[in-house]
Amino acid sequence: MDAELQALFNKQLNRELYSAYLYLSMSAYFEHKGLPGFAHWMRVQAREELEHAMWFYNHLVERGGRVRLEPIEAPPAEWESVTQAVRHALEHERSVTKSIHELLDAARRLGDKAAEVFLYKLVEEQVEEEKLFSDLLQKLELAGESPQALLFLDAKLAERKG
Ligand code: MG
Repeated sequence: MDAELQALFNKQLNRELYSAYLYLSMSAYFEHKGLPGFAHWMRVQAREELEHAMWFYNHLVERGGRVRLEPIEAPPAEWESVTQAVRHALEHERSVTKSIHELLDAARRLGDKAAEVFLYKLVEEQVEEEKLFSDLLQKLELAGESPQALLFLDAKLAERKG
């Protein structure tokens, strides 16, 4: 596997781990706010991000590349509001989408077909991730942050399976 592409894969691996860290921090924030359903939903999301990180890890290993783990940046611990936290998550996913698209461009430029095909799965995954967060944000913006609205949404989000 090309050295430049390996470096980019390791960078993306770190980004996915940061995503897990960010959503775990949001989960703790929601716990603190007395919203266990929101906290559970974000905890499931954090686990998904760990899974994405392992996709990159495994692809590097399978291709004979080297995994190089870098420090994970500390995420914020506080947000102005529940809506603000979810908006931050959506913006974060949009930036992840951008980096995956750049990674795909690099794989094409370097003629790495296996990496290209691997990345298609992530391009699709990002469509789902952005939809997930934008649907939640839309509900929050529609309902507002009254105690009734938050408790109703909290009960709904507690049902998320995996
Ligand atoms: Mg991800």
